[in-house]
Amino acid sequence: MICSEFMLHLDDMLDGTLDPTLRSALEAHLGDCEHCAITVTTTRKTIEVYRSNVLYELPDSLRVRLQAAIFAKCKKC
Ligand SMILES: [Zn+2]
Repeated sequence: MICSEFMLHLDDMLDGTLDPTLRSALEAHLGDCEHCAITVTTTRKTIEVYRSNVLYELPDSLRVRLQAAIFAKCKKC
């Protein structure tokens, strides 16, 4: 799996709606890719902050910035 594939499934992973096979593949990528691991951690924390402020939606602008940052840094993409 490459980072762009991982990013396609990021929402579902955070929602916990993945099937077990796909989840295993994503977790394997996370173990292998520091940048995606950081993205997941950052996104989870961001969601928690927004939820604590009763704002559920992750803004598209933030999502785009996160993805741009990871693609810029990750040499495997
Ligand atoms: Zn990655």
